[in-house]
Amino acid sequence: MLICSSDFEKIKALLPFGVSLLAVSKGHDQDSIRKLSSYGQVDFGESRLQEAIPKKKDLNDLKQLRWHFVGTLQKNKVRGVIKEFDFIHSVDSLPLLERISRISQEEKKNPNVFLQIKLRDDPNKGGFLKQDLLKNWTNIVSVKNIHIIGLMTIPPVALNSFQRKDLFCECRNLANYLGLKDCSMGMSTDWEEAIEGGATWIRLGSLLFGERHY
Ligand SMILES: *Cc1c(COP(=O)(O)O)cnc(C)c1O
Repeated sequence: MLICSSDFEKIKALLPFGVSLLAVSKGHDQDSIRKLSSYGQVDFGESRLQEAIPKKKDLNDLKQLRWHFVGTLQKNKVRGVIKEFDFIHSVDSLPLLERISRISQEEKKNPNVFLQIKLRDDPNKGGFLKQDLLKNWTNIVSVKNIHIIGLMTIPPVALNSFQRKDLFCECRNLANYLGLKDCSMGMSTDWEEAIEGGATWIRLGSLLFGERHY
């Protein structure tokens, strides 16, 4: 069930200056998004293009909404995602980045991009390895029609609280080293740790919307 407005305000009050809230609305319908937007929420995240398109169409009257793609991005979905989303949190390889750049030029778009990084072994997650990110950095920053605004990371499920904190700090330090302002990290169960580690975007789904329906 969707959070009530007073509980939403309590979460907002816990966010330090400079930390933004992304409401991940995957698995929830347009009515829930509309309701949350009536509390003042502007940024919404979706992880599947096919699911996002009809919802966005229904919500087209809410011009203030900003849409973030947070899911695994397949090659053949790049054009659609560029057309529909202002932010992409999940760019996990150089070929994908280059493809986004090329299609952004064709579509005359300038998406804001987070590079997803994999700081620990995790068979379930994609992402740049730190050494590959550093090795390719000059190529990465020279891609056209993309604003690289930060790094995104998801800790492996097996980590304990201390290990997660450590990982979030490592992501923050790497972003600082590369001169990137933003870190997209922290979900419903670990957002407070992520903020302590230096997140600037936390991505909350179930904490705001309740259990996912699909
Ligand atoms: C689903 C999802 C979230 C939100 O997850 P919750 O645990 O429901 O808060 C955040 N980030 C990404 C990349 C997701 O896919």
